[in-house]
Amino acid sequence: QAGLTPVVNVLDTQCPFCSVQCKATVTETWAPGASRPVYTVEPKMNAASEGRLCIKGMNAYQHALSGERIRQPLRREGEGFVPISWDEALDIIGKRVERLQGIYGRDTVGVYGGGSLTNESAYLLGKFARVALRTKYIDYNGRFCMSAAASAGNKAFGVDRGLTNPLSDIELAKCIILAGTNIAECQPTLMPYFTRAKENGSYLIVIDPRETGTSKLADLHLKVKPGMDAALANGLQKVLLEEGLLDEQFLRERTNGFDALQAHLAALDLEEIAGLTGVSAADIRKAALAFGQAPTGMVFTARGVEQQTDGYMAVRAFLNLVLMNGKIGKPGSGYGAVTGQGNGQGGREHGQKADQLPGYRLIENPADRAYIADVWDIEPEDLPGKGVSAYEMMEKVHAQEIRALIIMGSNPIVSNPNANLVEEGLRKLDFLVVADMFLSETARLADLVLPCTSYLENDGTLTNLEGRVLLREAKRPPIGESRHDWRIMGDIAEKLGRGQYFRFESAEDIFEELRVASRGGIADYYGITYDRLRREEGVYWPCPSTGSAGEGRLFAERFAHEDGRAQLIPVENHRLPESADDAYPLYLTTGRVLTQYLTGVQTRRSHTLAARDFESFVQLHPKAARTYGIADGELVRVTSRRGSIVVRGRITTDIRPDSVFVPMHWGDTQNVNKLTLPELDPTCRMPGFKACAVRIEPYISE
Ligand code: SF4
Repeated sequence: QAGLTPVVNVLDTQCPFCSVQCKATVTETWAPGASRPVYTVEPKMNAASEGRLCIKGMNAYQHALSGERIRQPLRREGEGFVPISWDEALDIIGKRVERLQGIYGRDTVGVYGGGSLTNESAYLLGKFARVALRTKYIDYNGRFCMSAAASAGNKAFGVDRGLTNPLSDIELAKCIILAGTNIAECQPTLMPYFTRAKENGSYLIVIDPRETGTSKLADLHLKVKPGMDAALANGLQKVLLEEGLLDEQFLRERTNGFDALQAHLAALDLEEIAGLTGVSAADIRKAALAFGQAPTGMVFTARGVEQQTDGYMAVRAFLNLVLMNGKIGKPGSGYGAVTGQGNGQGGREHGQKADQLPGYRLIENPADRAYIADVWDIEPEDLPGKGVSAYEMMEKVHAQEIRALIIMGSNPIVSNPNANLVEEGLRKLDFLVVADMFLSETARLADLVLPCTSYLENDGTLTNLEGRVLLREAKRPPIGESRHDWRIMGDIAEKLGRGQYFRFESAEDIFEELRVASRGGIADYYGITYDRLRREEGVYWPCPSTGSAGEGRLFAERFAHEDGRAQLIPVENHRLPESADDAYPLYLTTGRVLTQYLTGVQTRRSHTLAARDFESFVQLHPKAARTYGIADGELVRVTSRRGSIVVRGRITTDIRPDSVFVPMHWGDTQNVNKLTLPELDPTCRMPGFKACAVRIEPYISE
C-alpha cells in the first residue's frame, strides 16, 4: 500500500504573532502522488485563547513555508548577495569582529534583538553580547513596545508583569477602561473576554483618537487628541478626588505619596484639561464616575498611551487612577499592559535590555552582577556595564561609535523612529550581520544574512501577556540550511574563542540555565520546567519552586516594593515635543491593522494576509480631505520635518479632523517611521511614535 496512503504530519504549535500566544494545530497532508502538501489549521484549546485563533494565527504557517525563505547564508557582492557556506559565513564574522574590536574596542560591536524571540533566544542574546562579544551595547525592539509600561509597573508596584490579573478576571470587572489599545485588531482573540464582561453588566470606556473595532463595543468613547493621555488620566483622577471616590483605607494602608498627588490634582483645572485633550469635561466626569462608582474595575493601557515622550508618566497616571480607587489585587480589579509582540513579556525579562540582566536583575547592581557572573562562570568585573536604548544605539551607529551590528529577530530600519537617519547609519556600518528568515528591509543592507528557523521549526518558551509561560514545541525540520537562533549564537561564540559558554544541545538546555539565572529575581522562573509546561496549560511567574503554582493574581496582600506599598506620583499634563503649526498642521498617529504584525516581514509574506492588506494607507477625516484637496483612494504625500512618504488616502470619520493615521507595517516609500520623532521619554527611552506634526497633499508623480 506504500504510496497509496496520505502522509499526515500534525504539528501542535502556537501562533507567533501576538502576546496572547494562541495554541493551534497545523496539519500537513501529503496525498498519494501529490507534489505538494495541503495545510489545514485548527485552533487548539488553551486557557488564554480559549480555543480561538484570529486571521493572523490561521495563516501564520504561510510565511513559514514561503518560497522567499532564505535557505543559505548570503554574502553581499555589489548590490546583490551570493550564497555561501556556514563555515565561510562564521569565519567572516569571527575575523571581522575580532579586527574591528582590535582597532576600536569591544564596544564597537552592538547587538540588536527582538521581542518575538523565544525566552531561550532572548536570554542567550543578552549572554552572547556580554560574554561572547563582551560589549555593553545590546538593546532590542521591545524598547518600543513595553518600556513605558515596564518602567511604570516597576516604579509603582515594584514589579512589571503585563497583567496583574488573569484574563479570566476581565468578565468580573464592572467597569473597564481600554486606553490606547485596539484589542479588536491587535489581540482579536481577547475580545470575547470584553464582550462577556459587557454581558455581565460592565461599563466599557475606550480612550483612542480613532474609532476602531474596539471602540465600537464601548459605552463611552473618549476621542482624545494624540499624545494627551496623561492629561486625560489626570482629569479622571481629579474627578475621583472631587467626588470623594477614593478608597481611603487602601490609600492609607497600602500606598505612599497620596498627599503630594492630592495637592497636584487639586491645582489642576478640568476645563483646561478638556481643552488639552479634546474631550469634554462632561465626558471626563462621566467616565470617572463610572469607574469610581463601580464595585470592581480594570484599566488596560497599550502603545497609544505608552509610545509617547511622556509614556512612562502617562502610564503612571493610569496606575494612580487604579490605586486611588483601590481597584487592584482583587478578583475583577487590576491593571494590564497589553503587550503587542509575541514574546513582548518574556523578551523583556531575560537581559536583552541595555540596563538589565536575566530575571529583571539590574546590570548596575553589584549583587545582581555577582549572581549572574556566577551563573555564567565569569568574573563580575568581566561583565560589561550599561549600554543605551534601541534608538540611541542607532544614533551611535550613525555617529560611527558602533561600527558593527548583529541583528536578530528585528527590522530596525522600519521599526525605529526617524527611519531616514537609521538607514543612513546602517549604510555607514563597517559590518552588518542580520539573522532573519527573509530579506527584510534591514537585511537588504547587510554584509551577511544568516537564515534562521521559523516558529514551526524552533522549540522554545514564550510568556504571554498574563505572565503565563507556554512551551511551543516544533516538529518541522529547518528549511534549507537555516539554523536556530541559539545555535547561530553558539557558532559565532566558537569563532570568537568563547564557545565554552555556549555549548547547548537544545532549547531546553538553555531554559535550564535561564531558570537558575532568574532564580530570586523579580521574574523568577526557577520552578518552571519543560516537563511541567508539557503537563500544565502554562505556568505563571513568579514561580520560585517546582511545587509553586505560580501567581495569576498579584498584589492581594502587598506590592513588591520592600515596604509592600505601591507608589503614587503627581503627573504633569503632557506638552508635545512637536505641535501642529501652519507648515505642518495635522497630527500623525501610528498603529496596527488586523492582518499585519510589526514591520510586516512575516505577515506580508503570507499570501492570505497580504491579499487583505497589500499596501499602507493614510486615514483622514472628510474635513481634512476637503481642506487639502484629497479624494478617497488617491495617493497622498505625507510629510513631516524628517521625511516624506506616499500612501493611499482613506477618508473616514473614524479619525479626528485634526489628525491622520498611518499603520506601521510597511517599509521603503511607505515607511511611516520616516516621519516620526526621534525624541525619547526621559525615563524609559520610549520614542514618541504616536504624535508628530505633518502636512498632507495629493501625490503628483514626477
Ligand atoms: Fe492569537 Fe494573537 Fe495569533 Fe491572533 S495574532 S491568533 S490573537 S496569538
